[in-house]
Amino acid sequence: MSEPARGQQVGFIGLGNMGAPMVRNLAKGGYDVVVYDADPSVRARLAEEIGGTAAESPADFAGVAAIVTMLPTSSIVASALLDWHGGIPAHLEPGTVVIDMSSSDPTETVELGARLAAEGVALVDAPVSGGVLKAEAGTLAIMLGGDDQAAINAAVPVIEAMGSVIFRTGKLGTGHAMKALNNFVAAAATTAACEALIAGERFGLDQQTMVDIFNASTGQSWVTSNVLGQHVVSRSFGSGFALGLYAKDVGIAKHLAEAMDEPAPVCHAVSAALDDAYAELGNVDHTLAMTYWERLRA
Ligand code: NAD
Repeated sequence: MSEPARGQQVGFIGLGNMGAPMVRNLAKGGYDVVVYDADPSVRARLAEEIGGTAAESPADFAGVAAIVTMLPTSSIVASALLDWHGGIPAHLEPGTVVIDMSSSDPTETVELGARLAAEGVALVDAPVSGGVLKAEAGTLAIMLGGDDQAAINAAVPVIEAMGSVIFRTGKLGTGHAMKALNNFVAAAATTAACEALIAGERFGLDQQTMVDIFNASTGQSWVTSNVLGQHVVSRSFGSGFALGLYAKDVGIAKHLAEAMDEPAPVCHAVSAALDDAYAELGNVDHTLAMTYWERLRA
């Protein structure tokens, strides 16, 4: 593990379900964090809790060694960095690194990298896997892509404060590509498992018994072990991961497959299932998609 520079200033933009616990771990790791969220009460509350600074303008990021973004989409990342009151890069020292930990679109990441480089700022992509629980525990799995070795070296100690395993995935955008493809695989498990629960229950199987059997059998996955029983069968629907974000991630995987001339029929089917549920339910917890799929089959 690299030594964090205690007291080093790091900026963090996007203090939602994931960003807030990640900031707490950066503060615990000895960083002096300058936080920003579009919601003023969120940034004020978190800054007070960690003894950091709530940014009120781009100039408040002057002096940070790195800025982490943990925002919903690529376009929001680009606009938070470049469009907010004339943009943040003008206030940064040359060589400052931006670490986009959001689940962004890899093609847009490459474009953003070029726009930031023109302003003397390096970009690395470092999306995460593990959800809110691992964000709180500081044990996220992090996929790190980047072209600039100095920027990667600067980013590693910062991201180590939030994760327990870092995979170097290759050039800029490869972390984001990997993240989208991972979430496609997880979403395929979610849609398949929900379908199975609906069909099985109709035949007379008990849903929790089904989950217990998946988890002792070849149908087991992270989804069956951590999501199905806790949030779907229990009807608590509180995984902390929004349906709109999941639909976005699978859409990114679909576009990536298309760009690579891969027909990806399973990805198309899973993407359509999530998009339809999102159109009907809005941006609720993704596990509530089960209620839409149940209604469709009623
Ligand atoms: P969230 O919706 O809970 O939080 C997003 C935050 O960004 C909100 O607080 C919002 O106010 C803020 N925001 C939006 N636009 C802004 C802007 N222009 N400037 C500043 N702040 C702005 O989302 P989340 O669940 O924390 O997810 C963040 C990212 O992490 C997404 O890309 C998501 O796909 C990814 N992700 C989420 C999970 C999860 O389990 N929730 C897991 C892994 C990755």
